Amino acid sequence: MALQNKIVPAACDAAAATDRGRRRHGNEDAFGYSVEDGIYLVCDGMGGAAGGEMASSMAVTAVLERFAGWTAAAKPPAAALRESIAAANRAIYSYAQADFRLHGMGTTLVALLVEDRRAWVAHVGDSRCYRLRSGVLEQLTCDHSLVEEQVRLGRLTPSEAQRSPLRNLITRAVGSRQAVTADLEELSTEAGDLFLLSSDGLTREVGTRDITAILNRERDLDRACAALVQAANRAGGHDNITCLLVRAR
Ligand code: CA
Repeated sequence: MALQNKIVPAACDAAAATDRGRRRHGNEDAFGYSVEDGIYLVCDGMGGAAGGEMASSMAVTAVLERFAGWTAAAKPPAAALRESIAAANRAIYSYAQADFRLHGMGTTLVALLVEDRRAWVAHVGDSRCYRLRSGVLEQLTCDHSLVEEQVRLGRLTPSEAQRSPLRNLITRAVGSRQAVTADLEELSTEAGDLFLLSSDGLTREVGTRDITAILNRERDLDRACAALVQAANRAGGHDNITCLLVRAR
């Protein structure tokens, strides 16, 4: 009997929202998902001459394409996830090489791949993944940002990091260099686990405690996304806001 590396995406419910916020003229965030293929991601682009918008949407497209029809894939999930991010990096990097105005364009990326009772979280930059389990919110990713690295080294306190004028500087991006390394973590999932993928436009404005309260209060995923966006806008809406919620059944 031929054994196939057949992937069974978990039954999940998902919803997402993106919003320009109150200060920016455009929206450089992008999200995409396929419940069927078990893949979910949020990207936050950067770069002049519309490079940011291009970069985030190119990354979403590249990753979703890699996982389309994923049940037939012969690769282990972690390797496939890395491969999809490398493909996104190549697409953006080569696009930018053709136009000097786009040099340096890039995007953050946070992706969740769910298969049966396992999940993989990959990220580059400061878009984040959280998991709410039994009412408790846990941040699963560590920002690739200058201030976060300073905090880890004990050179800045978390509150100094929040106020730092350098807090926007990320140390890794998809597409701005020839190659990129994503952090990748494998987890086991339980029925009822709620994953939140978000851009920094949410997490800069709304603290963990408020995010937790909203997610515990709003069981409906669309309404929860709307409430998160509203909270970020109420707090100032300084940046584009994107959230994607995935609940394991
Ligand atoms: Ca942002």
